[in-house]
Amino acid sequence: MTPEKSIFSRIIDKEIPSEIVYEDEKCIVINDINPKARVHLLIIPKKPIPTLFDLAPEDKDLMGHMMLLLPQLAQSQGLDGFKTQINTGESGGQEVFHIHIHLMGE
Ligand code: ADP
Repeated sequence: MTPEKSIFSRIIDKEIPSEIVYEDEKCIVINDINPKARVHLLIIPKKPIPTLFDLAPEDKDLMGHMMLLLPQLAQSQGLDGFKTQINTGESGGQEVFHIHIHLMGE
C-alpha cells in the first residue's frame, strides 16, 4: 500500500494549485496560503521527507541547497532581513508532515 500523499506532494505534482515562486529539480517554493507576514514563503523539497527526525546523511546536499536558496529568495522579494522556521513533530507545531522551511519577512 502506498502511503497517502501529503498536500505538498500534491502541490509538487500539480494536482492542486498553488502560487509557485520558484522551482528547480530539488525543491519548490510557494506562497503560504495563510501568510503570517507580508512575505511568507514555504521552501519544500520534492523528496517527501516527513520531519527533520527522518533526515538521512544523503539529504545533506538537499538541505544545504534549500539553505542557500533562502537569502536569494528573500532578496528577490525585496527583503533585507527575514525569519525562518521549521516546525518539527506534532508537539513542535508541525501540521503538514512533509519538511518545509517557512521564510517570513516584512
Ligand atoms: P503550521 O500551520 O503550525 O505553521 P506547518 O509548519 O506544518 O504548521 O506549516 C504548514 C503551512 O502550510 C501553514 O503555514 C499553512 O498555512 C500552509 N499551507 C497549508 N496548505 C497550503 C496550501 N494548499 N498552499 C499553501 N500553503 C499551505
